[in-house]
Amino acid sequence: MKTRRDFLKAAAIGAAVIPAGSAALRSAPAAADELPRLSLDDPAAVALGYVHDVADVDTSRFPRYEEGQLCSNCNLISGDADASWRPCSIFPGKLVANDGWCSAWVPMN
Ligand code: SF4
Repeated sequence: MKTRRDFLKAAAIGAAVIPAGSAALRSAPAAADELPRLSLDDPAAVALGYVHDVADVDTSRFPRYEEGQLCSNCNLISGDADASWRPCSIFPGKLVANDGWCSAWVPMN
């Protein structure tokens, strides 16, 4: 279950990274498949516990993770469902792995 605290944390990180992503999008629009992959060392990725492979989720740090949660079934992912790497609104300008996960995961509507 997502808590208000989780939401506020995700929103704060999103707000911190959106200006940089917005500037990049204004200067050089890129097709989704041309975007770089999100680095595991990215500060926002570290803060939200993002992993490329859901098997690597640190469940001691993120005990609310539940089996079956994946970027591919998160409401914040976009782009071609058949692509292995896709845009995510939490990490603008970067691609996340379909098999990945972060603590901002939200179920599909
Ligand atoms: S779980 Fe959702 S919010 Fe987190 S990186 Fe994957 S698609 Fe983005």
